[in-house]
Amino acid sequence: MVLVGIDGLGWSLVDPMLAAGEMPHLAALLKRGAGADLETVKPVISPVVWTSIATGRSPDAHGILGFLATRMQLRTPTIFERLALAGRRVALYDYLVTWPPPALPDGFTVPGWMRRGPEIWPADLWARTGVVDYRVVYDRAESQEQHRAGIREELARKPATFAALLEAWDPDVAATIVYAVDRTGHRFWRDAWPDAGDEGRPTQAPREDSLMREVLRGLDVGLGTLVGALEPEDVLLLASDHGFQAVEPRHVWAMRTRELLREAGFDETRDGFTLVRQWGVIVARVRPGPFDPRDATLERLTAFFESARGPDGEGLLDVQVLDGIERPADRRRSLWNRIRQRGFRLAASYLFGATFDDPAHGWVVARFDGDQMKSLWPDATVSLDGREMRAEALVAREDFDGQHHDTAVFVAAGGPIRARAERGRISVLDVASLVAYLAGEPLPDDLEGTLPRDWIDPAWLAAHPPRSIPASELPGLLPSDSAPAESVGDPAMLERLRSLGYVE
Ligand SMILES: [Zn+2]
Repeated sequence: MVLVGIDGLGWSLVDPMLAAGEMPHLAALLKRGAGADLETVKPVISPVVWTSIATGRSPDAHGILGFLATRMQLRTPTIFERLALAGRRVALYDYLVTWPPPALPDGFTVPGWMRRGPEIWPADLWARTGVVDYRVVYDRAESQEQHRAGIREELARKPATFAALLEAWDPDVAATIVYAVDRTGHRFWRDAWPDAGDEGRPTQAPREDSLMREVLRGLDVGLGTLVGALEPEDVLLLASDHGFQAVEPRHVWAMRTRELLREAGFDETRDGFTLVRQWGVIVARVRPGPFDPRDATLERLTAFFESARGPDGEGLLDVQVLDGIERPADRRRSLWNRIRQRGFRLAASYLFGATFDDPAHGWVVARFDGDQMKSLWPDATVSLDGREMRAEALVAREDFDGQHHDTAVFVAAGGPIRARAERGRISVLDVASLVAYLAGEPLPDDLEGTLPRDWIDPAWLAAHPPRSIPASELPGLLPSDSAPAESVGDPAMLERLRSLGYVE
């Protein structure tokens, strides 16, 4: 049994493509199986929903409530862990909220992209299988072009990598998630539907030559690769976590800060600072150290950001300096300055989620005025550090124009799955029951969904009546092989999430 998760896939993306004959492999799956609207859970964000699919539990029960959660917050075992403990060979490949990776007996785990460290289980998976390591990696905030390249790479490599892992490991149950549709939906919606209003789902296929059309075609080719690696008695489940719709575009001004700082002669290592954030708001943390050189860095950074000027010499960045240490008596700030700093810290946490808890000599926070930039971007001549440049060279405009819709997609085909033309309706909470049943195991009685019996061939169902088992008789959460330290902290993870359009 293979679960292929497609983050962000909605029927409104798929149906016009099916009608145009552009997704033949998906059409073939629907013909020998069935499809359904998949009701999702709230909040409709990926880590929460994928964990409900994996556990069969609502968010309050499973404990994964937001983007910063890791498996450490999971309160109930996933069906995959339970099947592994029941003796099934289970394979989790790039599935969300599986870091730190559970030590599945006879199985493997390659944690999905919100992983906080590189650990996989078993550590020698790639060497042992001879498969080349591929997984979606965001190790920094990415621009539109970088996302485009990453999306294409995922479609080109993930299905083949997953198929090769299935071939080499021969698991009983396997699951993966593809992220390309979601990444495309958030950032490239109007590229696909130029006339999309400010809300609503599409009724037509995405524009020819659009990234979304390329992605849906690529997805179908990937499905073909996977189907080709399966036997007729294997079951393929395809699920998404939510669909997509248009939303009023949101612009984020992302200064090309890192390169501009480098060109101006700054060096994060030598000068003792870290650029924490450059999406929407620029935050540089001057690390603790000897007072005079660190204070000089604080002043140089401040002057650098204050030097950003428009065509009429007007300042482009609102720059605020915050102290992280008690300053010596002869270098103290004025009372007024200190009061202002305190107010700014409070406002910053409300307005743009900035916190200033890490040890620091100080911070420089700089923000563009969105309306002002809109009038100057991309062609006006601006200056920075005395150098003239086009506004576009100073700052990139990142647009987010698609948003989640709360109806997702479910398709099942193969094995005892019955062919059915009409589209049904099930809940993400039902998927774990179906997975357990198809794996031939009893259904734990703490699952909140029900087994969708009408999806199973009646003769098979009569021969294999579903059994139930008290969850209290099952083992609890699987330990990870180790509880590794997070090598990616919350601020770095938040910056990546901003560049995906997931958080503001
Ligand atoms: Zn999304």
